[in-house]
Amino acid sequence: MNKRIIIVSLAISLTCSLSSFCQTVQKPKISFSFDDGSVKDFPAYDLEIWNQMLLDNLKRHDVKAVLFIKGSGLDNAKGAEVIRSWYSLGYLIGNHTYSHPYFNSDKISLDFFKSDFLKNDSLICRYRNYIKLFRFPYLKEGNTIEKRDGFRAFLKEQNYKIGHVTIDASDWYVDRRLIKQLKNNPDADLSRFKKFYIDHIVDRALFYDSLAFSITGRRIKHNLLLHHNLCAALFLDDLIKQNFLQN
Ligand SMILES: [Zn+2]
Repeated sequence: MNKRIIIVSLAISLTCSLSSFCQTVQKPKISFSFDDGSVKDFPAYDLEIWNQMLLDNLKRHDVKAVLFIKGSGLDNAKGAEVIRSWYSLGYLIGNHTYSHPYFNSDKISLDFFKSDFLKNDSLICRYRNYIKLFRFPYLKEGNTIEKRDGFRAFLKEQNYKIGHVTIDASDWYVDRRLIKQLKNNPDADLSRFKKFYIDHIVDRALFYDSLAFSITGRRIKHNLLLHHNLCAALFLDDLIKQNFLQN
């Protein structure tokens, strides 16, 4: 298949007080990416249930997305099933290293980072919809010029491109708090988590779009980094409904 990210347009339409910003400019376009991959069961939501909820959210809105796999923890039957569920619906499978190392640490060498990348590549290359697109863990590209340039040159040799992000958020933190709440009370009312999650991501999208416009003088296409987690399964439908989708 054509190995390119399929850009999905998500036009943000806010009716709140922030709308003065939107009314004066063309609506920004956003594509989705989901990082890491999880095989965990959560209180009231087994893996098969919440993963399918997430996929249903994407399908319901005809959203196409990339799943950036971190191989550690997914190199097993459950992980293979999660990956299969994504590619069988047409979603792309990208590389996010095997062990998710922090490349800006002095303890992580260029050689280690390369071998970790290759270990993950050999895991995901067997899957359909595998794409040579790499997402840096923590978005860290190396704490020295040698590491940064060395890995960029290596990616080029491997015919890989970087899976860039323009909108970063703390969905992972909201998810952590939500899981903690569910462990305390599986029947907990999650509405305040949903509101915070949606408000936070919309806020981040507006901030980064405003920043990009002030720097470039034009409306850019965005990529929103989310994670393969329970929050996305529970709230993505409502997040997308806040906006107007176009393909
Ligand atoms: Zn990650």
